[in-house]
Amino acid sequence: MAAAKPAAGQPNAPVIPRMGGSAKSGVPQGLGLDSPALRQRMLQRLAAQGVSDPHVLAALVAVERHRFVDTALVNQAYEDTSLPIGWGQTISKPNVVARMLELLRQGAVGRLGRVLEVGTGCGYQAALLSHLAGEVYSIERIRGLHERARGNLRSLRLPNVHLLFGDGMLGFAKGAPYAAIIAAAGGESVPQSWIDQLAVGGRIVAPMSAGGSKQVLVIIDKTAQGIQHTVLEPVQFVPLKSGLA
Ligand code: SAH
Repeated sequence: MAAAKPAAGQPNAPVIPRMGGSAKSGVPQGLGLDSPALRQRMLQRLAAQGVSDPHVLAALVAVERHRFVDTALVNQAYEDTSLPIGWGQTISKPNVVARMLELLRQGAVGRLGRVLEVGTGCGYQAALLSHLAGEVYSIERIRGLHERARGNLRSLRLPNVHLLFGDGMLGFAKGAPYAAIIAAAGGESVPQSWIDQLAVGGRIVAPMSAGGSKQVLVIIDKTAQGIQHTVLEPVQFVPLKSGLA
């Protein structure tokens, strides 16, 4: 029952206000859930938690998170919680997404150049990245999710987002070199292909195994002097897997 997707117009379907230029068919429209106010509240919470990059905050206001989650979960879209997106995968908590985007942008003036995202999932973070980067290449290994993201992003018309179906462990050489690479899934180590495809002066932000089921967030900076690793706080992401599904 909880997973059932009510059709638009169904009596007990959650209602969402229509937003200019980004209406998506299949999502019920109407009055009731004041999403701009909810996003503002999410923003205040994120600011109180220490998110301060105005570019990241602006992107979080611009992108409607509720359009990326299942209809049954829209009323949780602006809570500080991770949410299931199907195929056993999850969309990260807003504060984790904001933290990673801030780290990715650290020191950048204006937009980043080309960015690679490994793990498109539902496409939410790719939409955020479209506001922060010149070009976004986002790769997903689960065909169903790749197609779902395509559907979610279609009505947003983001010409700088390129969705790819493939194994992100190999990166995406055709788009390289990247100013930044961000991963939403954690492996045993950061694949060498990502480091190879990173531009000098670029940064990787990714979760990585810290032994057993533990994961930490890591930063890899590629400088003219070499590679610099920084280990940050514990995190919990879905596993980085090789091959297609
Ligand atoms: N950024 C996403 C989060 C998705 S969860 C969003 O905003 O929704 C992480 C995703 O990484 C999952 O969809 C999972 O299938 C994907 N993933 C895991 N290993 C991968 C790989 N090797 N290549 C591409 N995607 C991968």
